[in-house]
Amino acid sequence: MSRSQTILIVDDDPTIQLMTSAGLRKNGYTIRQADNADEALAWMRADAPDLVLASVNLPGRDGFAFIEAVRLEQAGSANRDTPILILTALDDTPSIHRAFTVGATDFITKPVNLALLVERVKYALAAAARAKALADAQIEQATACRMARLGFWRLDHASGGLQWSAEAADLLDCDALPDSREALIERAADNDRYRLEAAFDSAIAGGRGVDVEVSVWLRDDRPTILRLQSETTADHAWLIGAFQDVTALRAFEDRAQYLAEYDELTDLPRRRLVNRLLDDRIHQQGGQPWSVTVIGIAGLSRVNTLLGMRAGDQVVVTFAQRLKEILPANAVVGRLEADTFAIAAPLEAVDRPHVAHEQWLAPLARSLLVAGEEVFVDFSAGASFYPDDASDADTLIAHAQRAQQVNRGRRGQPRVTFYQDTGAFDESGVLSLENDIRKALGRGQFFLVYQLQQPLGGGSFDGAEALLRWRHPVHGVIPPARFIPLLEENGLIAEVGEWVLDEACRQLAIWHETDAKLVMGVNISAQQFERGDLAERITRTARRHGIDPHTLELEITESMAMHDPDASQRTLEKLQAAGFRLAIDDFGTGHSSYESLLRFPMDTLKIDRSFIEAVADDPRNRSVIRSMTLLADGLGLKTIAEGVETQRQRDYLNALEIDAIQGFLIHRPAEADACAGLLPSAAIEED
Ligand code: C2E
Ligand code: MG
Ligand code: MG
Repeated sequence: MSRSQTILIVDDDPTIQLMTSAGLRKNGYTIRQADNADEALAWMRADAPDLVLASVNLPGRDGFAFIEAVRLEQAGSANRDTPILILTALDDTPSIHRAFTVGATDFITKPVNLALLVERVKYALAAAARAKALADAQIEQATACRMARLGFWRLDHASGGLQWSAEAADLLDCDALPDSREALIERAADNDRYRLEAAFDSAIAGGRGVDVEVSVWLRDDRPTILRLQSETTADHAWLIGAFQDVTALRAFEDRAQYLAEYDELTDLPRRRLVNRLLDDRIHQQGGQPWSVTVIGIAGLSRVNTLLGMRAGDQVVVTFAQRLKEILPANAVVGRLEADTFAIAAPLEAVDRPHVAHEQWLAPLARSLLVAGEEVFVDFSAGASFYPDDASDADTLIAHAQRAQQVNRGRRGQPRVTFYQDTGAFDESGVLSLENDIRKALGRGQFFLVYQLQQPLGGGSFDGAEALLRWRHPVHGVIPPARFIPLLEENGLIAEVGEWVLDEACRQLAIWHETDAKLVMGVNISAQQFERGDLAERITRTARRHGIDPHTLELEITESMAMHDPDASQRTLEKLQAAGFRLAIDDFGTGHSSYESLLRFPMDTLKIDRSFIEAVADDPRNRSVIRSMTLLADGLGLKTIAEGVETQRQRDYLNALEIDAIQGFLIHRPAEADACAGLLPSAAIEED
């Protein structure tokens, strides 16, 4: 015993005081003494003893009244069961009864037998310690049960009567609990009713316990998820078990699960779930082709920096909303990264891929008001196709993202790049190409090929488009789709563009010397076009080579022209005044409005290959082309169809009154030497 236990002796008889205190002290107890009840109560309040020894006969308040007072004061306190032994006269049975009634723990008769007293005291102290330990354990258990939302129940097999622990209704936050097995089953959620019944039945039949988790309507507003576990009593008469309210736990788990799979800001699936959903769909609908499009918001980090993260969040939320608005049926959509989303859709939703893709996504690029500022939200996109590009979601998404990255940073170009067009842009390839391309011009690695154009009305080639190529020392000849974006990012495109013009003019001068009166098309990049002195530069170049400006046709795209329409108009008017021909390239893929045609001075309309592709199969397509040729005719423009590959296409285009065609059917781009033999004057000479 670490601390000596304290005993309070309450007696007005000095002899008894003396004897009992001496005897108990000898046994190691600390003694306090009081002559009367009030003094004793004062002691007890100041320093609670471990045990009290009190005489029945006290001056003033007697021993019974004293015990009553103590028990009253102690009710609800931690020391509520301090053992009190009462000293009575021998054979005073009524006093003994009364003492127990008011709360005495034990009695000792006078004259006091000291040895007996010491034993009684020891016993009473040990019993008190046990009782206290038990009470503490009960409190702990009740607390634990409350915290774990755990309680108890028992079911009488024979009657079906169901009993719950006292605090069960409180714990489950309901007014009353079902008092029979049938009543409980009745209140189970539809899906769980049968399971619960089966669990009880098999417990009864097999003498086993139950272990089920069911939703039960214990209150009107929401179901409670209860876990019921039990054992069967040895006589098989009862199921005795515990219940736990796991509603909050399951809700928390559901939320955690939700957040692991869904993005909190937009409520869209995250990458892992997108992957899974897409894989499932692909495999469910075996053979059905899919497009996977990865879309990146342009300049989100700039919005974050300039207007704050909340503004950035707002842009993301609005963008996600717009994505949902353009979502085709059966599509899968998700947020892959902070500024990157993915949509996977069955391919028929996006037929005629390139044009349709551009048009489908176009509504995403609009301005919105954030933090009082009008922010124009633009995007870049990349797409891959199942089964052509890959057969699993992970790779399809990676490919589409790759294509999106290639597309990012381009300006005045289509907003969507297809994975097939990104070629060798692998992760390391980009870097090395990026370094290599800075040296390409100085090392003479660029060269031009020419693709000849032919009037549909008959006659020989009367035009050629100059197309840039890069002869990479390691990768071989690289087409422009792969390196022009790099040149644009590096700001080298203008310089390279100057070289193209110079080289094309040099070649044109040579061909003109042999009398081939053809028109040379040269592609102008956005950055070149945006420089204010374009007309002066081209004029100087043409003059240097003695080129008649009417034989040089500058190709720009609609989106380039519409980027800053007023400036474009000024530049185009200057070029026209200087005598150059002007062509709209890839017509139909950009803004797809006819505004550019009406607004800008133009000579030629080059209808994009994507329209030509479907011309033989799709009557709607033919109507679109027909409307283009009619309009062009009305405006006095020449029409050239790009990318003609088959005779059937050519026949249709002829019928649709296209003026001229360009495409693999009649000529594949080739270096100047290889073209020379096909040009008119040379052909005549050969004849
Ligand atoms: P573009 O100006 O529309 O050029 C036509 C593209 O279509 C060329 O691709 C040509 O090879 C391709 N093509 C022609 N006929 C067919 C056909 O029957 N089938 C198919 N599948 N394709 C055909 P290329 O040479 O790869 O050029 C791609 C784009 O790169 C050009 O599109 C143009 O926008 C750009 N580009 C090419 N050279 C230059 C240049 O010198 N400067 C600038 N700024 N851009 C250039
Ligand atoms: Mg072109
Ligand atoms: Mg084109």
